[in-house]
Amino acid sequence: MRVSSVSLHGISNAHPSPSTANPSGLSYLPSHESSAWDMYLQQIDRVAPFLGDLSLWVETLRRPKRALVVDVPIHMDDGRIAHFEGFRVQHNTSRGPGKGGVRFHQDVTLSEVMALSAWMSVKNAALNLPFGGAKGGVRVDPRLLSDGELERVTRRYTSEIGIIIGPHNDIPAPDVNTNARVMAWMMDTYSVNQGSTSTGVVTGKPIAIGGSLGRREATGRGVFVVATEAAKKLGLAIANARIAIQGFGNVGSVAAELFAQADAHIVAVQDHKGTVYNPAGINAKALIAHVERHGGVFGFKDAQSIDKDAFWDVPCDILVPAALETQITSLNAQRIQARLIVEGANGPTTPQADDILAERNILVVPDVIANAGGVTVSYFEWVQDFSSFFWNEEEINARLTQTMQAAFASIWQVAKDKQVSLRTAAFIVGCTRILQARALRGLYP
Ligand code: NAD
Repeated sequence: MRVSSVSLHGISNAHPSPSTANPSGLSYLPSHESSAWDMYLQQIDRVAPFLGDLSLWVETLRRPKRALVVDVPIHMDDGRIAHFEGFRVQHNTSRGPGKGGVRFHQDVTLSEVMALSAWMSVKNAALNLPFGGAKGGVRVDPRLLSDGELERVTRRYTSEIGIIIGPHNDIPAPDVNTNARVMAWMMDTYSVNQGSTSTGVVTGKPIAIGGSLGRREATGRGVFVVATEAAKKLGLAIANARIAIQGFGNVGSVAAELFAQADAHIVAVQDHKGTVYNPAGINAKALIAHVERHGGVFGFKDAQSIDKDAFWDVPCDILVPAALETQITSLNAQRIQARLIVEGANGPTTPQADDILAERNILVVPDVIANAGGVTVSYFEWVQDFSSFFWNEEEINARLTQTMQAAFASIWQVAKDKQVSLRTAAFIVGCTRILQARALRGLYP
């Protein structure tokens, strides 16, 4: 079973072409709404009129600086050799080294990684972190690999992209289906190849090898912090608010726990295995334990199982997409009941859906602010690794909260001043900083 599935996801089989690939699986969507890279380009078109003299440089944002496609061959446990396709894209490094996660997923494409790397450039600049944007991925379903196979994929991929990553060049981190264990293998592989231990080459590592306290929870915590700030603007109390969450992994599950601790009610959760609904509230800790045992939310006994598509109709106050791109589209944006959407995922809302939500007066806190908690604590981790001096968790969480609140407040102000959406405001701030750096550095030669 495992072996035949692996061959399905090996490079030797046909892939969708990058321009039409759609990680959401919503193949019935119009193509301009289904490609993450197209979405990003449309977002740049929307911000371009606000860039003033810097618009001379705007084409920089439409072109990744560097993209590497690598073959990742490994020995499978059954003796076969399987090949997987890997990517690392450095979208922009004008403000500092590339920074962004690594995704292991069966639908990963170059075009998707390009979009994710570009959103990292905008995010890091919007938060004023001293990084450019990068992202990586391997086209593999890690659930179909043994532990040994997963380690071999990780190590070979790291070795292949080793020519462009490094603590001063480009620093990977966890993303979908990767975690601290994968980061430990990446750090070790890079270090062995370099001949010396390099803790700063990846973030999101285990604490024992230079990881930071609070990093695992940081993205979900950041989502909770900005949701609280945005809710205040709407006069919406978090206590008793009804929350619907799509994606119950690192980001979604931590956000759920924090909402629950603040007395909100988690009314619906969807993951790749199912959708569960309980208007009286789902116990987040119990659901996390269920997912650990069963690999997904399906079958959770204290909630009713509902149809995948019915998730979008659930009565709720706050919706947190925390799974994959292109989930909120022109096909479901009209049905969403929430007053506030906080994007834990990268690129969950298409520009067409953005327009519908704006018309319906539903506030969207965009990914480049809402899920920036992860890269913010990654920055803290990188700084701690370089100084070999580690901070306590209280300090980290306090700095994270302060950074996220300040970023939200400044984006809110720009949105108000320029009468634009929070997404366009965040892009104005982020893209302006990137292009200022670009213009100051000038062109070589
Ligand atoms: P994860 O692998 O820990 O969890 C992903 C979750 O999404 C799982 O619950 C999975 O079942 C669910 N999912 C996958 N496909 C789905 C589908 N088609 N429908 C519904 N649910 C589906 O990943 P994560 O780290 O939590 O990342 C989630 C999102 O947050 C991604 O968009 C990622 O880029 C973004 N993000 C993550 C971080 C981070 O620090 N991990 C930081 C910023 C942004």
